[in-house]
Amino acid sequence: MISAKASCLCGAVKITAKDVNPKFTVCHCVTCREWGGSAFFAVECGTSIEIEGEDKVKMYASSSWATRGFCSDCGTHLFFKFSESGDYNMSVGIFKNLSDLEMDLQYYSDQRPDYYCFSNKTKELSKAEIMDSLGL
Ligand SMILES: [Zn+2]
Ligand SMILES: [Zn+2]
Repeated sequence: MISAKASCLCGAVKITAKDVNPKFTVCHCVTCREWGGSAFFAVECGTSIEIEGEDKVKMYASSSWATRGFCSDCGTHLFFKFSESGDYNMSVGIFKNLSDLEMDLQYYSDQRPDYYCFSNKTKELSKAEIMDSLGL
């Protein structure tokens, strides 16, 4: 686990994550692709997050179990946050100095569209497997 700093495009929101897992995840679900235009690359950060400029973070409840946060000034997608645990999955791209990143797991592999695929060797979880693991 490593500590790292992130910020949005305009700099209004600055985030310090103290517990970043460099083995990052990719989500191919329809919601992520609508939200960001493509698959969502995220690092798991637990709950050890400090946010500067929190008044600029707009939250959107994208499902009954999670919300998505973005900067209300520049629109940068910041994180996906599980409502129950409070765990953050932060966007990989907002961190400037993350090292040793490794694509580890692809979520919603059954919703991945047929117009792209990654050559990285990773674990994969289908929607049914994810729902099972969340107890939904
Ligand atoms: Zn911003
Ligand atoms: Zn998703």
